[in-house]
Amino acid sequence: MSGVNDIRSTFLDYYKANGHEVVSSSPLVPRNDPTLMFTNAGMVQFKNVFTGLEQRPYTTAATAQKCVRAGGKHNDLDNVGYTARHHTFFEMLGNFSFGDYFKERAIELAWNLITKEFGLDRKRLLVTVYHTDDEAYDLWRKIAGLTDDRIIRIPTSDNFWAMGDTGPCGPCSEIFYDHGDHIWGGPPGSPEEDGDRFIEIWNLVFMQYEQLTKEERVDLPRPSIDTGMGLERVAAVLQGHHDNYDIDLFRALIEASVDLTGVPAEGERRASHRVIADHLRSSAFLIADGVLPSNEGRGYVLRRIMRRAMRHAELLGAREPVIYKLLPVLVQQMGRAYPELVRAEALIAETLKLEETRFRKTLERGLSLLSDATTELGKGDTLDGETVFKLYDTYGFPLDLTQDALRARGIGVDITGFNDAMQRQKTEARAHWAGSGDKATETIWFELKEKHGATEFLGYSSETAEGQVQ
Ligand code: ATP
Ligand code: MG
Ligand code: MG
Ligand code: MG
Repeated sequence: MSGVNDIRSTFLDYYKANGHEVVSSSPLVPRNDPTLMFTNAGMVQFKNVFTGLEQRPYTTAATAQKCVRAGGKHNDLDNVGYTARHHTFFEMLGNFSFGDYFKERAIELAWNLITKEFGLDRKRLLVTVYHTDDEAYDLWRKIAGLTDDRIIRIPTSDNFWAMGDTGPCGPCSEIFYDHGDHIWGGPPGSPEEDGDRFIEIWNLVFMQYEQLTKEERVDLPRPSIDTGMGLERVAAVLQGHHDNYDIDLFRALIEASVDLTGVPAEGERRASHRVIADHLRSSAFLIADGVLPSNEGRGYVLRRIMRRAMRHAELLGAREPVIYKLLPVLVQQMGRAYPELVRAEALIAETLKLEETRFRKTLERGLSLLSDATTELGKGDTLDGETVFKLYDTYGFPLDLTQDALRARGIGVDITGFNDAMQRQKTEARAHWAGSGDKATETIWFELKEKHGATEFLGYSSETAEGQVQ
């Protein structure tokens, strides 16, 4: 059965043979796009080509794009470890047409690839179209020979893509694979669609309009194509698995994590191994692309991911830094396709180890506070905002780490209370600030403190609290 590396090359070779320019993945930190936290789709590097602002020497392209969805509009962080199909870092395989071919060719290429090259069982495939998109509906009947019950019309924004409030937009069509009725879940559009039986493998976007203003939408003179297929999802299908975490790449990582911790990936500990494997990938790739853990912006998302993985390592009994020890396995699996991983290996290992060492100092105490504060709580209860804030402020627990820790017990978190406590602390700090009387200095000091967030209590070391802007 083909491994992830072969599937990636089969995809790129297929589109190359069909006249597409194979373009490298762009970095996870988008260039020239401060509005976007991380690259979260293949089309990101082509935004200006689609709008016509930028010209390229080719009109069709194919990529395997590194994506992170752990913040901003697309945030899959909370799903990781618990669904069969979500990662924080994944690869999106995509083909693009910049005013070249449109719907018919896009559908034909996609259908040929999955049914002929990949040999997927046609009977397991179904598609969605936007409810008014008769053209796509008819093409699926004509090209794929799909019967009416296998083409589902969806009236929601799930099947209508837009670059923003204005700009290119259009209907989409998603290809789903039915993993079988032994798995809970219903077809798209049904009440059980959130289950994991029908898994979306590929999304085809037909950019055919331009939104000029809120009310005014015109036809694009040269419509375009943007598609995205999850490499790990299609690999699961091709390798005969339902679950992304059973593919070759994840097996290697999870086996290494099992070896290292001595805890089998079963029962309630299964999710922990998955989270560690997934979060190692996103952390490593983010660091390779220049993100470092910090208390704001992208760096804070990275820190949240790393700390969350560390809590799961703690659940597996690790009392020493362990996650960095899994890095060689990741490099072995993905280093050939992504040489930046090899180049940055030493930096990634050091960064992981340092963060693990630092956080270990407060993690255990924080967890014991959390456990004391929740002994009386059960399913449906909420942990008060003051405690959640204390965990954040004193023990360096990102909010989502606390939420994740309470998830298995069905306990929620008082987010409003948490935000209030944070606000109160800021106000009090200002009020109590005796200061030098120099308004300008004070303003700068508070701005810095707010920007960098709370400092963390790291025990009585020689490091001063103020110096601890991490
Ligand atoms: P889902 O509905 O399953 O969350 P999506 O509609 O949000 O997926 P798209 O934005 O259409 O996903 O992205 C294109 C493709 O990328 C999807 O069809 C899927 O195969 C893959 N994909 C999206 N999100 C993830 C993720 N978090 N982990 C792995 N693959 C993903
Ligand atoms: Mg999604
Ligand atoms: Mg979807
Ligand atoms: Mg989709």
